[in-house]
Amino acid sequence: MEKLKALSGEHQLSSYEEACQSFEWTQAEALFSWNLTGNVNMAYEAIDRHAEGELATKLALLYFDGEREERYTYVDMKRESNRSGNVLKSVGVEKGDRVFIFMPRSPELYFILLGALKLGAIVGPLFEAFMEQAVHDRLLDSEAKVIVTTEALLPRIPVDQLPHLETILIVGDGVEESGKIIDYRKLASDASTDLDITWVDREDGMILHYTSGSTGKPKGVLHVHNAMVQHLMTGKWVLDLQPDDIYWCTADPGWVTGTSYGIFAPFLNGATNVIVGGRFNPEFWYSVIERFGVTVWYSAPTAFRMLMGAGEEAFEKYDLSSLRHILSVGEPLNPEVIRWGNESFGLRIHDTWWMTETGAMMICNYPTMDIKPGSMGKAIPGCEAAILDDRGQPLPPHRMGNLALKTPWPSMMRKIWKNDAKYESYFWGDWYVSGDSAYMDEDGYFWFQGRVDDVIMTAGERVGPFEVESRLVEHPAVAEAGVIGKPDPVRGEIIKAFIALRKGYEPSDELKAEIQKFVKEGLAAHAAPREIEFKDKLPKTRSGKIMRRVLKAWELNLETGDLSTMED
Ligand code: ATP
Ligand code: MG
Repeated sequence: MEKLKALSGEHQLSSYEEACQSFEWTQAEALFSWNLTGNVNMAYEAIDRHAEGELATKLALLYFDGEREERYTYVDMKRESNRSGNVLKSVGVEKGDRVFIFMPRSPELYFILLGALKLGAIVGPLFEAFMEQAVHDRLLDSEAKVIVTTEALLPRIPVDQLPHLETILIVGDGVEESGKIIDYRKLASDASTDLDITWVDREDGMILHYTSGSTGKPKGVLHVHNAMVQHLMTGKWVLDLQPDDIYWCTADPGWVTGTSYGIFAPFLNGATNVIVGGRFNPEFWYSVIERFGVTVWYSAPTAFRMLMGAGEEAFEKYDLSSLRHILSVGEPLNPEVIRWGNESFGLRIHDTWWMTETGAMMICNYPTMDIKPGSMGKAIPGCEAAILDDRGQPLPPHRMGNLALKTPWPSMMRKIWKNDAKYESYFWGDWYVSGDSAYMDEDGYFWFQGRVDDVIMTAGERVGPFEVESRLVEHPAVAEAGVIGKPDPVRGEIIKAFIALRKGYEPSDELKAEIQKFVKEGLAAHAAPREIEFKDKLPKTRSGKIMRRVLKAWELNLETGDLSTMED
């Protein structure tokens, strides 16, 4: 058999335009081992392939949580994920079974996830902060057979109400076994580090991610092994992963960013992947960059805004000069944050737009392309994006409408778990319709405006909440802003802004008036919020997104709906 190459540092994007002209997904498929062997498995391609090749002794995973620090090579990762696979196998896990992982970040979490994939199981990662109802809903909906968790989180699993749940593996020391509860580490210490991988079809289920719940009840989005094709390529084109990079994605694997770009894209590309446990803390985060010499950093606007808020004192204590490429996802990236990135790191933060449903990056800024601050960039090579009107017709530049993607693409979701009607509702003919509102400019850049349901119609003008929020956070007193449309008998809707102030500022009527004037002068009179309400903090999902539907429900005294993903 032809020897497989490491694939790192090749096929980067030298010219975005050229790639759009000539690239076809079959070129990327040719890079995978299954192209030669017919044997498909994400975990093989991400780990074992490297462990058996040139990258065997390269550092794959660096774990740090402030206390525990561990380092694993690709060979170590292969052995440890095999061990985890054997533990899962010993409790009866088979291809297609749903295996949930509900625990704080730790090296084991990554071994277990990869081990489950090696058995052909469908992994369901759950963020550690979920409470009982959220855990119950997801395990019941997916008919999970096994869950791996910790003693501390065990009380949140309502075992009696989960008829399909056969086994609860507890990762801890001195676990008391009883009934369905089994000591994971006891099994792991005796388990073999050799495992025969279960080969699957590219279209077989791989991971089940529940969405963030920003707009309503979270949906169970199923992705298949074939998603690796897009993970590999966007890791090159957008993350720009090179052989010497130390890469850090700050997202938890409970959210799609934490798996697609916290596990799959970096490992497929043979990168060294930094995993940080524990909670967000500005100084700790800066210290991680310094400690490991992080070069490529993928995070989110909410984190960048919090770092901005922590000010220069925190920033100046650390040597952050290793950074060469910074990216963002999850929420619109305010131009103000890009300016801060420029001033602080001398680097432009690259925005990327995608969704749980798309499985991988879709609209991005590339290292070789000019950035227009406030724009999410252009569609990746091999994909097409457009703005459609409500009848599905493409709109010309500068018209706000439905952001849509031409189907199919490699990492597209294949199912909404047990909800075919919901799945079908995303598709208008050949188009996948995102539920986001945007416009395209004359150069083909896309500009996010808000969720379709959040777009405000005021005195005959359509206003995207994002524009207003971005202007608001440029005001020195404003830390964060969430903007909604409030029904109004005269104007249809008026703009109402909820604002959390920066440290050192106090709410007052003068400040309200000043902020209104600031938006009016910077944006437009009709875009200025007629009402402003100061809040200590804004309602957010645990992945850091502002929940405008909750602001709206509070404002209008409506039911708040599913709050399972909301922060405390
Ligand atoms: P739910 O679907 O449960 O309501 P959600 O849409 O927030 O939650 P995700 O799939 O995690 O769940 O997030 C995708 C959404 O996040 C996108 O539809 C978009 O609204 C927003 N988003 C992601 N990246 C960006 C970005 N770069 N700019 C603007 N918005 C973004
Ligand atoms: Mg969504």
